[in-house]
Amino acid sequence: MKPDTIDVKIIEALMEDGRASFRQIARRTSLTTPTVSARIARMTKAGLIMKFVPVLSVDSVNPHVLALVTLKVSSMVAEEVASDLARLREVEDVYMTTGQSITLKVALNSPQGLQSFLNLGVLAKPGVDVTSSQIITAVVKEESAALLPSTMTMNLRCDYCSEKVTRSRPYTVSVASSHYYFCCKTCRKAYLDKYGSRLAKLGAPKTDQPDILKGAV
Ligand SMILES: [Zn+2]
Repeated sequence: MKPDTIDVKIIEALMEDGRASFRQIARRTSLTTPTVSARIARMTKAGLIMKFVPVLSVDSVNPHVLALVTLKVSSMVAEEVASDLARLREVEDVYMTTGQSITLKVALNSPQGLQSFLNLGVLAKPGVDVTSSQIITAVVKEESAALLPSTMTMNLRCDYCSEKVTRSRPYTVSVASSHYYFCCKTCRKAYLDKYGSRLAKLGAPKTDQPDILKGAV
């Protein structure tokens, strides 16, 4: 299933301020607080939102110098060299690109550190040529690209049969702050038949079609 416009609104609000409360996000997106909380829970469960992390300013964490290094590598050793480079602590990013090249972003203690980095054994291997190495003089932008909603997918699994939920509006059951998702009405009914009385102890279970609960709990 794909995130809908409500999900996207919430994601955009979170990208602006990952610490905003559900209530603040609700106000900014003109949604209700329970909707925001349920959607964030769903996107987290589906693995679309992986975690909330602080973004530290590079300057205040470690006063280092960044450099971009581009290598030409023979296809025989490309993957091995890339993974060796990825293991180095000073290497922040490793990109394999067209033209049999590898581009690295490297953090150094000083501009002079670049030469020592270039002397590392892995860069002296046969089949590896350093084609350019430059110190970054200014970072104009450094963040993930703006979201393209059409490329996002959520991997939500049915809480009863574990199959993928493909409907854009899954069948749901909510009890207190827990939310359960189902691929079809049948799975939801089966789930309620099995666990309905247990759920009822936590509060009144709600579904998006309330009549279904009657007789099940
Ligand atoms: Zn199912």
